[in-house]
Amino acid sequence: MEANIKQVSAVLNPPAPHMVGDGFRVHNFFPKGHKLKMSPFFLLDYNSKIEFSARNEPRGVGVHPHRGFETVTIAYHGAVAHHDSAGNSGIIQPGDVQWMTAASGILHKEHHEEMFSKKGGPFQMVQLWVNLPAKDKMSKPKYQALCHGSIARHQLEHGTVEVIAGEYLGTKGSASTFTPIHVYNLRLNKNGKAPFSFPSGYNTAFVVIEGKIRVNDKEEAKTDQLVHFKNEGEQIQIEALEDSTVLILSGEPINEPIAQYGPFLMNKPEEIQQAIADYNQGKFGYLEE
Ligand code: MN
Repeated sequence: MEANIKQVSAVLNPPAPHMVGDGFRVHNFFPKGHKLKMSPFFLLDYNSKIEFSARNEPRGVGVHPHRGFETVTIAYHGAVAHHDSAGNSGIIQPGDVQWMTAASGILHKEHHEEMFSKKGGPFQMVQLWVNLPAKDKMSKPKYQALCHGSIARHQLEHGTVEVIAGEYLGTKGSASTFTPIHVYNLRLNKNGKAPFSFPSGYNTAFVVIEGKIRVNDKEEAKTDQLVHFKNEGEQIQIEALEDSTVLILSGEPINEPIAQYGPFLMNKPEEIQQAIADYNQGKFGYLEE
């Protein structure tokens, strides 16, 4: 039987980085850096590995709002401390994932964790913005802290698939999501192979966090590159040319209009106006700087 291969559409380099606050030096792969069809994923900020010097006062980004989507923070090196106006706080260590549903509105702040800041060292993170369907945009905010040890795992012959959300070969992901989404961290040893299958309607991309891979026996991608796939076809094969860590994203698009302004992601311009008004009136709650 002829395999139904999902072909690579492009292997992309990280766009020039910019700072978010003074703690995150990120490459925006989309929507600004590259125009990619990636709904329900709206934004991907990639903090490639960078060495931060020791500092007593943690670097980061101060209190700011979000409405209409979810922020998903995935740590690879270094640690982030998080606080929000719903009273949640936590520390995101390497391998951990924080899945925050901003939905109707939240204030939060994100800084380097104190001990990490005092010591300094390598720092590498991903932050994704996952859109919400219109019917869920004004639902209640929530917070899922997924520590590395609790994330569902599928053991491969030469590696592991950490199933953050969705499902991989029967292993169900740890995070609950509003629309069908697969998010995995693939850890694959050199020469190891891993098969993936996603419906043709889903938007799919891989980010090589570390190492070097070959996709579908053809295209190669190395650390910091993003592999974007065509919609047609379903099956993908990855082979590790070095010990590799790969972030894998695939999801069913949300086919609804988008209105975005800064940290607000809604469907209509009026809803953006409402978000700004609500924020100015203090309806997102309170959080100390
Ligand atoms: Mn934020």
